[in-house]
Amino acid sequence: YSQAIIKMNESLLATIVFNHEIGDMMRYMDKLTEFLDMENKFETGSIPVEKRSDHQYNICFEDVWFKYPGSDEYVLKGVTCEINSNQKSALVGPNGAGKSTFIKLLSRLYEPTKGRITLNGVDIKKYDYKEYLSLFSVVFQDFGLFSFSLGENISNSVEFHKKKVHECLFKTGLEKYGHRLDESLNELSEVEAFGGSDSSSNEKYSGGEQQKIAIARALYKDGAFVILDEPTAALDPISEYEIYQNFDSLVGDKTCIYISHRMSSCRFCSDIIVLNDGSIVERGNHEQLIKDEKLYCDMWNAQAKYYTAS
Ligand code: ADP
Repeated sequence: YSQAIIKMNESLLATIVFNHEIGDMMRYMDKLTEFLDMENKFETGSIPVEKRSDHQYNICFEDVWFKYPGSDEYVLKGVTCEINSNQKSALVGPNGAGKSTFIKLLSRLYEPTKGRITLNGVDIKKYDYKEYLSLFSVVFQDFGLFSFSLGENISNSVEFHKKKVHECLFKTGLEKYGHRLDESLNELSEVEAFGGSDSSSNEKYSGGEQQKIAIARALYKDGAFVILDEPTAALDPISEYEIYQNFDSLVGDKTCIYISHRMSSCRFCSDIIVLNDGSIVERGNHEQLIKDEKLYCDMWNAQAKYYTAS
């Protein structure tokens, strides 16, 4: 598939792909058709995904190597790890370490160049593509709100369960907008409405509120996996604190994978995977990793110093 399209905005396209039941995609139809066509180019299997109410799905990366199309350089280098089911895991590491790439492979935006990723012991390529994607609720940094109504943005559908939308608004602290479900987000500018993360100039919803809408959307989708890529970057400290306070009730017993540069928000995860230069270099909980005095500890100390200084 076209690299140009991927470069346009991978995260936005991923948002669209994950939610591609959404109605009005016409304006992006050319690009989308080409992009979605990759389903045919991928080795897409037909095995149905077992729906488990206990959300017990076992994901394994087995010696995964990856280089982007057209590049000679591996950005993931022999990643082997199991994602603990029903737990909160964090992916941390310096910029360029490969965190987002890890998520892109997991969400089948790309295939591993070598190695494989399995779900309950079966290569994810063998599953029905759409069924596989239906397991994931993802909030990317470029979360992409659409110029539909608030209810449609949260539910990704023209027909939505009002009660469920209200619940999601409540959980993300947006209940005051419950009366606006049918109002369009049209006032957002093109850039803001379609993936711009610098959306603080929007009159109707602040940048932080837009990010909460994206989190509410992930809650509505109710996937067994919740993947959050810098989910609170646009939130003020109080909103961020509230979201984390409610985190357990937000994700319940789902498997949560969380990427953040803010070390303070990762420490609550029971399992922290540290990536550096395409490899996993450490893994453990916050206390263990601090004791190890390696990269995680250095990053923690550097950030603590920064916050103390500022
Ligand atoms: P992180 O999320 O840890 O900051 P990324 O996974 O985004 O790291 O990037 C890992 C490496 O892959 C970086 O060197 C980055 O420049 C490169 N990279 C990311 N996206 C692309 C792409 N679409 N094409 C080529 N290289 C890319």
